[in-house]
Amino acid sequence: MHDTKLNYIAGEWVAGATEIENRNPSDLSDLIGMFAQATPDQLDATLEQARQAQAEWAAYGIERKYNVLMAIGTEMMNRAEELGTLLAREEGKPLAEGKGEVYRAGQFFTYYAAETLRQMGDTADSVRDGIEIDVRREPVGVVAVISPWNFPTATASWKIAPALCYGNAVVWKPANVTPASAVALVEIIARQDIPKGLVSLVMGAGSSIGQRLVESPKVNAISFTGSVPVGKGIAVSAIQNLTRVQMEMGSKNALAVMDDADLDLAVSLALGGAFGGSGQKCTASSRLVVHQSIHDQFVEKLVLGAKAMKVGHALEAGTQMGPVVSEQQLSENLAYVDLAASEGAELLCGGQRLEMATDGYYMSPGVFVGTNNDMRINREEMFAPLACVIPVASYDEALHVVNDTNFGLTAGIVTTNLARATHFRRNAQSGCVMVNLPTAGTDYHVPFGGRGDSSYGPREQGRTAAEFYTIVKTAYISSGTPT
Ligand code: NDP
Repeated sequence: MHDTKLNYIAGEWVAGATEIENRNPSDLSDLIGMFAQATPDQLDATLEQARQAQAEWAAYGIERKYNVLMAIGTEMMNRAEELGTLLAREEGKPLAEGKGEVYRAGQFFTYYAAETLRQMGDTADSVRDGIEIDVRREPVGVVAVISPWNFPTATASWKIAPALCYGNAVVWKPANVTPASAVALVEIIARQDIPKGLVSLVMGAGSSIGQRLVESPKVNAISFTGSVPVGKGIAVSAIQNLTRVQMEMGSKNALAVMDDADLDLAVSLALGGAFGGSGQKCTASSRLVVHQSIHDQFVEKLVLGAKAMKVGHALEAGTQMGPVVSEQQLSENLAYVDLAASEGAELLCGGQRLEMATDGYYMSPGVFVGTNNDMRINREEMFAPLACVIPVASYDEALHVVNDTNFGLTAGIVTTNLARATHFRRNAQSGCVMVNLPTAGTDYHVPFGGRGDSSYGPREQGRTAAEFYTIVKTAYISSGTPT
């Protein structure tokens, strides 16, 4: 018998009208728990309380806010093993990646703890005599955070930590596929010295409770990470209330491998970038743009590497690739394998459902060759452990192919040629550029985001996050003449 995990509404843990079960994608017989689904009334109540809590929180001294964020981050880092195990169990990424994600999420909180002390503004003299100007940033108000399942703890943390740092309240709707990680994080936050209702957890389906949240005039800003269609729908809802939005969406990242590349490095970057997290990363290298003069050698090593990858239970020692997250995701992935065949791509390995000792959503990493950049498999985000090799005849063609996409989150080049590396860094049309590094894997103290369909609104992370989570106030002060 499992206790149902509850929503955190207006500072209280409360049951919902219904609940859902959460099962381990590595082993469907493992029931992680039951999770309450928030009702519309609960959402409205928590939004009301969030408004009051936000005013109280904004009035806290900066060291008091610092202490709260530092305590959350430190506890997450200290409990990375335990919480990372829970994350890997519900999402399916290998344990080491789960632990790493929780530790990194803790770092977002400790980084923004320090930022609470560094909230500098600008000062200026007025063009009018005797008047001074003070420009400072104030909180936006109540922020809705809507997060995806693929990085259930990190994505939410890189939104919640800056939201709190800059004095806002948070109403969080996590992905319903990964509610356990959300409850674990909110349990930590709820124990801190914060006003009642400053942070709310509203679990439920995006199409119902999520939609109600983004339509609410009580929300001042929405930070969303997820798919392009859902992001566009959220933007339409938000504009009705002139609610500020920030959206990180999908991508179709390319890794360009040049004829002068260190081939072993290129293969290891491609394997990690394409199959890490079972390919379910917005930064995954799903397009491998390879110079034709090294194409065959590269492909031979890539296929050997893909075949050697150990697919298995996320919590089992030695697993390099866990299952995909759900039956729906697996069937979408297999449909892309069929589409690739119909488009004329050649599957050299993988791309199959795997039967393992435990019943789960296992799939072997797949490599396609003979692809071109016009095929749908190279234009649509598959979010699958599938990599497509696109041959090119020159550096110029490689750069053209890399940039020929509706997306633009990350782009990478593997080369030993400084001139190419420099030209690529300056001309790749993406938010992040990687030189001799995987397309996936970013830091927490610098901006993160993309171009085109990948992102909309101000960047996340680092000090740039202040642009979204604050509103600028310009004060004019005439102090008069001292007597
Ligand atoms: P979805 O867009 O389906 O869902 C994202 C979140 O939005 C979930 O919490 C979902 O709820 C919620 N949601 C769905 N419909 C609505 C709605 N109408 N109103 C409000 N909220 C809603 O994406 P996934 O969770 O399936 O994540 C995978 C996608 O996210 C991929 O395309 C991936 O590239 C992208 N992504 C982008 C990243 C980036 O930084 N650019 C990072 C990570 C992922 P629920 O699922 O519970 O119904």
